[in-house]
Amino acid sequence: MDDSSLAERQGVLRIPADRADLAEAAEAGGGTVDDGGGQADDVPGEDEVTVARVGPTGIAALDPLVSATSGGGTAFYANADPDLVTEIAADLVEGSVGVVGEPLAVAGHALGPATFPLAPATPLGVGNRRVLGGAGWHRPAEPADHDAAGGFVDATLEDVVSGADGLQGRGWGDWCQDADVTPALDRARDAFGEAAVVVNAHGVGMEAGHSGDGTDRSTADAFLLESVPFAVLEGADLLATAVDAERVVVYVSEADETAVERVRTAGENYPDPVTPFEVVTGPAVHRATEPTMALEAIEGNHRLEARLRRPGELPTLDGTPALVHTARTVAHLGRRVRAEDVGGHTATRLVTVSGDVEAPATVELSETASLDAALDAVSLADEFKAAAVGGRFGGLTDSLDVSCSPSSLAAGGLGTEGAVEVLGEDRCLVEFVGRRAQLAADTNCGRCVPCREGATQLTELLRDIYDGDYDEDGIAELLRVMDGSSVCAFGVEAARPARTAMEEFDAEFDAHAEGRCPAGACFEPAEVPQ
Ligand code: SF4
Repeated sequence: MDDSSLAERQGVLRIPADRADLAEAAEAGGGTVDDGGGQADDVPGEDEVTVARVGPTGIAALDPLVSATSGGGTAFYANADPDLVTEIAADLVEGSVGVVGEPLAVAGHALGPATFPLAPATPLGVGNRRVLGGAGWHRPAEPADHDAAGGFVDATLEDVVSGADGLQGRGWGDWCQDADVTPALDRARDAFGEAAVVVNAHGVGMEAGHSGDGTDRSTADAFLLESVPFAVLEGADLLATAVDAERVVVYVSEADETAVERVRTAGENYPDPVTPFEVVTGPAVHRATEPTMALEAIEGNHRLEARLRRPGELPTLDGTPALVHTARTVAHLGRRVRAEDVGGHTATRLVTVSGDVEAPATVELSETASLDAALDAVSLADEFKAAAVGGRFGGLTDSLDVSCSPSSLAAGGLGTEGAVEVLGEDRCLVEFVGRRAQLAADTNCGRCVPCREGATQLTELLRDIYDGDYDEDGIAELLRVMDGSSVCAFGVEAARPARTAMEEFDAEFDAHAEGRCPAGACFEPAEVPQ
């Protein structure tokens, strides 16, 4: 084990990397900041307390979360302020943890854990922490922390092929969404060293005026880059090893500035990559996540249009075949390639809960676990009425008693994006789907008629309900056309909110046609673009 890793230190105080005030407070208590990656202000001695600036845990309600580790235990402090951090640091200097303040939890563990120790009965103990093992625990710029956790595995081509066997692409930004990645990997290998690897971490679905408070988006890919960039880069490097790639590109929304900065730094510190990592940003619009539009953005095209898929072929980046996988997919690949994981565990999924909650959370659940379990990581802001499952164009449901596996979600008409947007009692679902239809009408790329014209017609038909005209059959037929004939996943998925809401909450549509809003939340129709 590399002795510059945190796992070798006697006393470690972990604080959020973006809180300079807490770093100062920790130093006032006797700690020494060590960011690793060759950027240490002053490397602590053996008996000193290390102050480590780490990435987010995924549980926003606990921020700033501070953890103090010494001997065989870690004390977690939620919403810590500078005065408390100074006290905790002084406590650690004395060799004790959990004595001062009121820790959220104290977890016992073996000496020097290299990954996040679970804190049962708290949001930090929800689900697993396999891909998320370094989140909130590792310094994003320090390869030694990832190395100590078993990372940078010395893998052969056979190891990568074996690790990829049975792995499904995660998220709509993945060329292999919900499908095995192996056929695409085989095609890239057939390019004999001329393929590119693209990590699509764009994942932003937020445009001003459509997202309300901006919390209804899936942030898992950008979160991984912010917190555990080496876990993502390692997966990309393994793919590059397998296909002898000539380029590895990490594609991120320009809105995710922290993710961009951290993955750039991690890329510079990465030990002996197959090829240097390029980090490219794209516009912060939902459609720019679609895999072929991601390639358009990386090529520098300003007008992003989806490309046609040709069966049996990979998309191309500047003329060369490209493997396009999300950050989640490649991070899962990295975990699977490690010897201890091959064939060992049930697959996991990252699930982000947002919407009408006090603060969003991203957790890692087994594919056999119910989506309900993710709610244990958040506090609801209102009584649960429904949820949109599957991202910006997720399916509406009144129950999260469904497993996280793509097949279960698809069988229930829900999306597999790994995003659960909670809708409280005051939410009007007719207004909700109207706004999502308008988002589709406003932001599609314009290439194909079913999506371009369909989204506009859908918005108009939903508006007509407010005038007493609920053309249920007409809307259903339009949704079938959008779903079945759109060129890319944007138009296919744009049909889902209205379709599932009409199936599950038909009474709300009937009530609006009669001039009533059961939620008492609206009676203004959504605007239709002219
Ligand atoms: S489905 Fe929508 S976003 Fe995709 S190509 Fe057609 S118009 Fe463009």
